Amino acid sequence: MPGPHTSSGSVDPRQPPRLPAAVVAVLYPVVCLAPLGLAMMRDVAPPAPWELFAAGLGLVGLAVMAVQFVTSGRFETVSGRLGIDRVMAFHKMTAWWALLAVILHPFAYVVPTWLADPAHGQERLAAYFALPHYRSGVIALAALALLVVGSALRARLRLRYEVWRAVHVILALVALGGGLHHALSVGRFSALAPVSIYWWVLGAAVAGVMAILYGLRWARLHMRPWKLASVTRLADRLWELDIQPAAGTPPLRYRAGQFVWMTEGGRRFPLFDHPFSIADSPTRPGISLIIKEAGDFTDRIGTLAPGTAIGIDGPFGHFTLQAHRGQAVLLIAGGVGIAPIMGILRDMAARGYDNPVRLAYAAGAPDNFVCLPEIATAETQLDMRTLLLSETPAPDWRGETGLLDRARLVTMLEGLDPARTVALLCGPGPMVTAVSDTLIELGMPMDRVIYERFDYSEGASRLDRRMRRRFLTLGGVLLIGLAGFVAVAA
Ligand SMILES: Cc1cc2nc3c(=O)[nH]c(=O)nc-3n(C[C@H](O)[C@H](O)[C@H](O)COP(=O)(O)OP(=O)(O)OC[C@H]3O[C@@H](n4cnc5c(N)ncnc54)[C@H](O)[C@@H]3O)c2cc1C
Repeated sequence: MPGPHTSSGSVDPRQPPRLPAAVVAVLYPVVCLAPLGLAMMRDVAPPAPWELFAAGLGLVGLAVMAVQFVTSGRFETVSGRLGIDRVMAFHKMTAWWALLAVILHPFAYVVPTWLADPAHGQERLAAYFALPHYRSGVIALAALALLVVGSALRARLRLRYEVWRAVHVILALVALGGGLHHALSVGRFSALAPVSIYWWVLGAAVAGVMAILYGLRWARLHMRPWKLASVTRLADRLWELDIQPAAGTPPLRYRAGQFVWMTEGGRRFPLFDHPFSIADSPTRPGISLIIKEAGDFTDRIGTLAPGTAIGIDGPFGHFTLQAHRGQAVLLIAGGVGIAPIMGILRDMAARGYDNPVRLAYAAGAPDNFVCLPEIATAETQLDMRTLLLSETPAPDWRGETGLLDRARLVTMLEGLDPARTVALLCGPGPMVTAVSDTLIELGMPMDRVIYERFDYSEGASRLDRRMRRRFLTLGGVLLIGLAGFVAVAA
């Protein structure tokens, strides 16, 4: 268990600048369509519409590839207000856009020839893939295809997560490097300024991103180490780590509910880091993490010796009360989803939060519940009502048994105005989908139902569907930009 709450921790976190979602939504098409706008500034002999379309696909596809480096969930400025799961969902969808554009790019060039003379069209296409001066483009295309298809099949490939991440980064660099070389060496528009300048600037920006991710962050993990103070077994395969800054390391300025990327011992390198929610209040020095054994890194968590050097990179995320204010709060945790919920609850108790709080905490079996005495104490300190829900029964279980269904959610909301209540929900995917949909049906505004998933698998909730529609709208904007380029430049 972490130590007592004091007022000596940092309570007024200065967060890095985080772009509002609307700004990100405007910046994205601006950056991706910029090469088309710049291309139109040059007086190039007007090519045929198919050639313009092909060139435009290449220009936009390459820009989308470059932007992927900042939608990887590691930049709080980009993902801070959107949430890492949304940013990762966007990253996955736009990877397919880039791949589609880059695949269609050579085909579009030969369409007119193909229509006039299929054999000649095929010959031209084969030449694109065989001629030495197109080789960097072919390498880029192959690397991107491997990257995107390999990522989609990651679970089936059974690669260790770290191996997959290393390969992912290398393929991404090869794809972008090859693409930039191809554009600058053979691109009709890219070989000339100002488009060539745009590619050099974008390439330098990506080099800067890599230097921050794997240079600066790596150095920080070593120059500002943390130390494991204790590891406590909370339940079967569930551990709580108390981690304190080592001498000279500044305290972490975070908000309850945020998460950090953690590494340990000699493996303090960003490639080996794992995300964990902070199950703690910023009013306490240090941080606590509640971790469930889920694979090769977390399976070793219980064996870490006190004193082990820990790398902490953060904070990240928007799963906080400060980011979503309401007159009442509904906290919902499923399984290890209790981690950020305990952080928020501990913070509420430490600060004397005085609005109504409802907590619904569900677990597979009575033995899997954690922090129950602390939750009971919080009930006496806050205006709080708790529902403990075990999926399976047990003779001495005093909570309820079953699933967090509509009837139970109606009971949880009794006495609250759903339109002015904020729900913060963290748990397994199916639970997040079912509960968030029901809360919206019960009158909670979509923007007040906030959830965090512990993996990047895409959900099917109403909020997920709305999110995907918004992403597709952005894709539509790119298509309109491309059509405009063909129409104006032809
Ligand atoms: C924002 C966020 C907060 C999280 N908070 C907690 C928490 O408080 N407590 C907790 O127990 N778990 C939490 N997780 C999940 C935790 O990060 C994974 O369980 C852990 O990384 C698994 O690593 P492994 O090597 O033990 O297992 P593996 O077998 O390597 O991985 C199991 C699955 O975990 C995911 N995963 C593995 N490594 C990473 C990584 N570096 N980055 C992202 N996903 C990864 C992958 O989907 C993978 O398939 C959180 C995840 C996210 C995204």
